[in-house]
Amino acid sequence: MLFDDTRIAFQSKTNLELRRAQLLFRLVAQQSLVRFGKWITLIFLKLRLPVSGLYRWSVYEHFCGGETVDVSQKVVDTLAKQGVSSILHYSVEGASKESFYDFSLQKTLETLAYASKDPNIPFTVFKPTAYGDSKIFEKVSQGENLTPEETQAWERIVKRYHTTCAAAVRYQVKLFIDAEESWLQTAMDDLTEQMMQQYNREEVWIYHTVQMYRHDRLAYLEKLIQRAQGQSFKIGVKLVRGAYIEKENARAQKMNYPSPMCATKQHTDNNFDAAIRLIIDHLDTVALFYGSHNEASAYVLIAILQQKKIPSNHPHLWFGQLYGMSDHISFNLAQAGFSVAKYVPFGPVKEVIPYLLRRADENTSVSGQTTKELELIEKEIQRRKARALG
Ligand SMILES: Cc1cc2nc3c(=O)[nH]c(=O)nc-3n(C[C@H](O)[C@H](O)[C@H](O)COP(=O)(O)OP(=O)(O)OC[C@H]3O[C@@H](n4cnc5c(N)ncnc54)[C@H](O)[C@@H]3O)c2cc1C
Repeated sequence: MLFDDTRIAFQSKTNLELRRAQLLFRLVAQQSLVRFGKWITLIFLKLRLPVSGLYRWSVYEHFCGGETVDVSQKVVDTLAKQGVSSILHYSVEGASKESFYDFSLQKTLETLAYASKDPNIPFTVFKPTAYGDSKIFEKVSQGENLTPEETQAWERIVKRYHTTCAAAVRYQVKLFIDAEESWLQTAMDDLTEQMMQQYNREEVWIYHTVQMYRHDRLAYLEKLIQRAQGQSFKIGVKLVRGAYIEKENARAQKMNYPSPMCATKQHTDNNFDAAIRLIIDHLDTVALFYGSHNEASAYVLIAILQQKKIPSNHPHLWFGQLYGMSDHISFNLAQAGFSVAKYVPFGPVKEVIPYLLRRADENTSVSGQTTKELELIEKEIQRRKARALG
């Protein structure tokens, strides 16, 4: 199978880095250890004790590019050697303050400018709640009236979106707008659609994110494609399953409304694969960024492309995984001629910890994938040992 070639998958890792990955994935596979690790980290942070040394060597270096874009360039170059592009993302989550939103905008603009100078960084990304208060996104999503101050805050959010999208076009760097919790998402959907309408007239620069764990998203995607065709603009879709399932289900239960989540994992998987088919049928209007670590769906996509004789390097086709995860998918896809990019988070060690804790959660909740990853790492360690002996 395409993804099982561990030599290609781990080519860029030294023996020591491979051992570190083995240790990390072994630890993360233990749910109780992850819970303990999170708890101890939060206590260290509260007491302002140093967590950075240990983190830097272990989790941080495995999942992040570095503290700044310049330091992250080493990772960008290493990935590029194996034909994989990078998506630099300043992954710091800050307080709900206007000064933080302006700072986030500044960081995204700096990253766009930096990316424009290196063809190995074709995308940049921002998270909507880094640009404005989630309460405002929620009120706008629910169609509630805003106070005069909130109206001004919303106008500043819209302006930050415009500034970023206009810069993306100017620098000729593609831009992802991440998706978040469903109760904030309608405002984000509408705003992102406005951006695509304005900035994706000829080419796709702005990519929306569509979370297929929501049972309403296939219908949403169909309508979005119809609107784009009717109004002559193009759509970028970063297709993901969705990262907030526990939070979504807990809120729906607590507030007593039907959960927007698919009832089963299988339902989410079917939805995801149906969205792939829908997009491939409209590849002239839609550009797809496959944002997933799921092997089965990647095989589905590859089979459809082969069946329809769509070239692997079609400009409306990208695959993407997170740095430090699913290298066996990323590198083997790149080797087979597909366009692949990895999200490379960067930022100060301490401030990236919330991002890293989410990765730990994700690797625990998708334990099947973690086991697979660990198996492949161990297979590669054995392969190298055998080669050294032989
Ligand atoms: C490049 C990239 C960008 C991303 N950007 C975003 C983003 O902007 N917003 C965002 O929300 N997430 C984002 N994600 C995370 C993504 O949504 C998933 O959480 C993560 O990738 C795991 O899903 P998977 O398809 O890789 O793997 P899989 O292991 O196949 O799927 C796990 C996912 O399936 C779904 N699931 C699990 N159990 C059930 C169940 N019982 N019922 C229904 N569904 C279930 C959940 O969505 C879960 O995360 C991104 C991921 C990548 C790789």
